[in-house]
Amino acid sequence: MVRRMIVAANWKMHKTLGEAVAFVRDFLAGPPEDGTVEVVICPPFTALADVGRVLGDGAVALGAQDVFWETEGAYTGAVSPLMLRDAGCRYVIVGHSERRQYFGETDTTVNRKVQAALGQGLTPIICVGEQLAQREAGITMQVIGRQMEAALAGLTPAQIAGLVVAYEPVWAIGTGRTASEADAQEAARFLRQVVARLAGEEAAGRIRIQYGGSVTPANAVGLMSQPDIDGALVGGASLKVESFRSIVAAARQGAAAKRGKGEG
Ligand code: PEP
Repeated sequence: MVRRMIVAANWKMHKTLGEAVAFVRDFLAGPPEDGTVEVVICPPFTALADVGRVLGDGAVALGAQDVFWETEGAYTGAVSPLMLRDAGCRYVIVGHSERRQYFGETDTTVNRKVQAALGQGLTPIICVGEQLAQREAGITMQVIGRQMEAALAGLTPAQIAGLVVAYEPVWAIGTGRTASEADAQEAARFLRQVVARLAGEEAAGRIRIQYGGSVTPANAVGLMSQPDIDGALVGGASLKVESFRSIVAAARQGAAAKRGKGEG
């Protein structure tokens, strides 16, 4: 099963409008994408519409960092899937650990958001990952398996097949500590097995699983050459055009390495 690599930039709470638009213009002025790697840029809400206008219907997709599950109504501060579509989004990150830590996101709200996003034709990038204490206690697979099952509840196999999942160990996010290639691969393979159990082999072969957590140009090729890792969700290293471009190039190399081995 050939899965297209997907590299997404999560800018978190960074960049003014001017900075966001300047980044995207600069990025688009570089070598054109050859189609091997799908690139997604997730600016803060305030910059979505402007960045979306610059990206247009081109090869680089727009994504949001969060979404609410209702379409409209009295939900002060919330942004709906319909509004994200309207701003030009094709993707939305759901269940990022920072949302879980600071904004009360739970497995149940992640599932509601995933369903609502799919209902508006958005592709969720669902984040799962264990905390350091959970890894040390040897319960990583239990934790990410539970998060995954909850996020996928009520979805059809076809919907599951089209999703993107980001395996992001919480202790690796923004810390400069990256999971080893072997640990990242083990978690990604386990998540694919969870999908096989819930939605069948075809969905498991099609769903794309990213690694996230202190990805840099230096470690990106090794991580994305792993057979079950189909790309990266990148925070800090996505804020500078050059480092983000290098990570996209690393995804291309990872894809080539897998083609060479007959994987991916
Ligand atoms: C993230 O925000 O999803 C992330 C992985 O951040 P960083 O790359 O900075 O660790």
